[in-house]
Amino acid sequence: MFYPVFQQYNWQEVADSIYAQTSEDVLRALQRPRRTLEDFKALVSPAAKPFLERMAVESRALTRQRFGKTIQLYVPLYLSNVCQNICTYCAFSMDNHIPRKTLTDAEILQEVQAIKAMGYEHVLLVTGEASHEVGVAYLQNAIRLIKPFFAHISLEVQPLQEDEYALLKAEGLHTVLMYQETYHEANYKQYHPKGRKSNFVYRLATPDRLGKAGIHKIGLGTLIGLEDWRTDAFFTALHLQYLEQTYWQTKYSVSFPRLRPIAQEQGHKTFSKYMNDAELVQLICAYRLLRDDLEISMSTREQERFRDHAVQLGITSMSAGSKTNPGGYAVAPQSLEQFEISDERSPAVIAAMIKAQGYEPVWKDWDQTLC
Ligand code: SF4
Repeated sequence: MFYPVFQQYNWQEVADSIYAQTSEDVLRALQRPRRTLEDFKALVSPAAKPFLERMAVESRALTRQRFGKTIQLYVPLYLSNVCQNICTYCAFSMDNHIPRKTLTDAEILQEVQAIKAMGYEHVLLVTGEASHEVGVAYLQNAIRLIKPFFAHISLEVQPLQEDEYALLKAEGLHTVLMYQETYHEANYKQYHPKGRKSNFVYRLATPDRLGKAGIHKIGLGTLIGLEDWRTDAFFTALHLQYLEQTYWQTKYSVSFPRLRPIAQEQGHKTFSKYMNDAELVQLICAYRLLRDDLEISMSTREQERFRDHAVQLGITSMSAGSKTNPGGYAVAPQSLEQFEISDERSPAVIAAMIKAQGYEPVWKDWDQTLC
């Protein structure tokens, strides 16, 4: 299990070590053919700022070598906004008094039709964390319903047990995203004060359960804006390295959504640990320089100009035309979204933007019959 590995590190010592990195450390990291976690510290450190162009050039080359000039396209399908957790950054938080909705079978199929009309073959199912409304039986039913329409089904829901993941895998589940949000154990509770998500250790152990259940791909990530992003990136990379060594047949992806203001009027707070665009470029490149086969995903939280630029930097998948409310595509387009979308362009426009840069938009990267 990862927790004993994690406990060998101290947050503040890691942070101090990152901020103490020098230009020489960055140069040494850049010169290595295969980078270690110590090199990664240098690459995410403030000392790497003057080397950003060089990092971007290598990141682009490595990504093209490993993935070709392709960008995978996916879209989230929000099934429910019912949630039994309080997360201080989320519009669906239990203490936020909004209308709650869980899609029925007929509504799921209505949403599926709208998504298919956009051309998608890869769908990411999303729910709040509510074991009664959207427990394993609901998820199993939803996967059965949509499986005939999609080549690739991903899931971003509450942490489940190993046997539950195995059951959903047998239904056709391919990928599970399980973001730790932050690896700052002492502060985790202040962002997650109530509900099962407040259990830091159980959430941290979820990728282990996924690996044991044989899920094909696991997505890791943190929410940028909660704690120091450089230190959180190190712990994500540590987690990734542990998982790669333990569950070597599994594929991995990372994502690092920047927090956007949402439901401020309901008293949700703003976040001070801001990351600017150049720092996000640095983080994308640092991950690519650490692992050339790592999938890196970017959502519509980011703005148009940045997403256009990111195509050639090292990302490998992108959402487009996303709605972050249950029923957002066809059933209830006006309901409250989980977070604000920055890039509202349609999937067709995004595909054209990708093509204009000489890249191929990929709608289908997976076929169950090939396994
Ligand atoms: S982040 Fe997830 S668990 Fe937390 S309140 Fe939002 S939907 Fe619920």
